Order: sequence, then structure tokens, then C-alpha cells
Amino acid sequence: MSILRVDNLTKTYSGAGQDLTVLHSVSFELAAGDTFAIVGPSGSGKTTLLGLCAGLDRATSGSVWLNGILLDQLSEDQRAAVRNQHVGFIFQNFQLLPTLTALENVLVPLELRGRRGAAQVALTLLDRVGLADRAHHYPAQLSGGEQQRVSLARAFANRPAVLFADEPTGNLDPNTSERVVNLLFELNREAGTTLVLVTHDLELAARTRRILRLRGGEVVAAGAATP
Ligand code: ADP
Repeated sequence: MSILRVDNLTKTYSGAGQDLTVLHSVSFELAAGDTFAIVGPSGSGKTTLLGLCAGLDRATSGSVWLNGILLDQLSEDQRAAVRNQHVGFIFQNFQLLPTLTALENVLVPLELRGRRGAAQVALTLLDRVGLADRAHHYPAQLSGGEQQRVSLARAFANRPAVLFADEPTGNLDPNTSERVVNLLFELNREAGTTLVLVTHDLELAARTRRILRLRGGEVVAAGAATP
């Protein structure tokens, strides 16, 4: 079964009296456990496509099936429930809640699911990303790389079927970036988490099994990352 299936997806933004179609009939399918990079120039629709696949936004036409669930007709609340159950999301600018500590940020999705022993799970995750000693620090007290690792721990807290990441290394120095990327691929290998990454970093894209290249909202190439 495919974990993610996108069929003829089109997205038009309306505003300021003018419509802008930023994705044109995009289709692809991913098997569970696959690793996938979406690449292309700025403005080609990568972030929009990622958001539609993760259920953050709704397409204008076309379909998205995530872990067998058709997202098209779901209400915002229903999409939020699907996200909490099936999806982890990592943003380029981390998007940690500034008034919560690292530990509390990782606890948010666990508590939404009402998981027992959530604090222990969150601490184990922080330990896994090398931040056990930063558990009680606030985001402003952490470096960019540390914040991104907290955000990874948070995204993985509910062991999502699919981990989406929008330029996960975009704001990191090369060493920190390597560390975050290694963690992502470890989660893929160990837990079978499907990875869908938007990236400018061609070295990172080359580590995934498949690449989708967008230009002007259209798929210009799709296939194996390495011959
Ligand atoms: P990329 O991630 O490849 O840089 P985006 O998906 O962010 O591309 O953007 C694709 C196009 O859609 C751009 O022209 C951008 O300005 C436009 N766009 C993105 N989000 C919105 C929005 N909420 N409203 C209107 N236009 C948007």
C-alpha cells in the first residue's frame, strides 16, 4: 500500500483580485518507508506541495491520500486530527513554542494524544537527539541546531508514519546540518518512518531514494535519486 498518494493536485491561491495557480496537476506515489526529496527553484511550489501532502492546507483540485485516508473533503479539525495521528512536521524556522521549555515542546503532541508516561517518552527522545541536558531550557536559550533537534524530537514524538521536513537544514551550519540529517535517516531505518523533504541541498536530496523536481508548479522530473 502506498503511504502517500497524490493525484492531479492543483493549487490556486486567490487574493488581491487575482488568482495564482502554483501547482499544476502534480501526481506521485510513495511506498511506506521510502525517502523522498522535493527540489526546485524558489517559488516552484515545494512548500505548498508539502503542506498539502501533510494536510496543513487543502488543494484546489485533485486528491491526497495519506496512510490510506483521503484528505480532500476533510474539515480543518479532521485534518488536524489526521496530522496528529499520522504526521510529523519540521519547519525551516523550527516553530517551537517560545514560552515552553524543550521538554514541554516535545510533550505537546504526546499530551494531545493522551499518552501515558509522556514525560519519560519526551525525555528519551531529547536524549536521542543529544539534548537531555537542555530539557528545561527555553527555545531562546538554545542554538539553531539545538532548536532544530528539539523540533525533530517533537515531530517524532508520536512515531508518525510520515515525517515531512521543509528545508530542515536551511538555517544550520554544515556540521549541525549533518547531525540533523543523520538523525532523520536513522529514524527512517530504525522505525520505517517515511521521509518527505523539501530541500535546496542537493547532497541531502542525493541521500533520498527518490527525487521530485518542480519548476513553475509542474513536475519536470521524478525518479530514483541515484542511478
Ligand atoms: P517554494 O517552496 O518552491 O519556494 P512556495 O510553495 O512557497 O514555493 O510558493 C509557490 C508560489 O506560491 C510562490 O509564487 C508564492 O509566492 C506563492 N504563495 C505561497 N503561499 C501563498 C499564499 N498563502 N498566498 C498566495 N500566494 C502564495
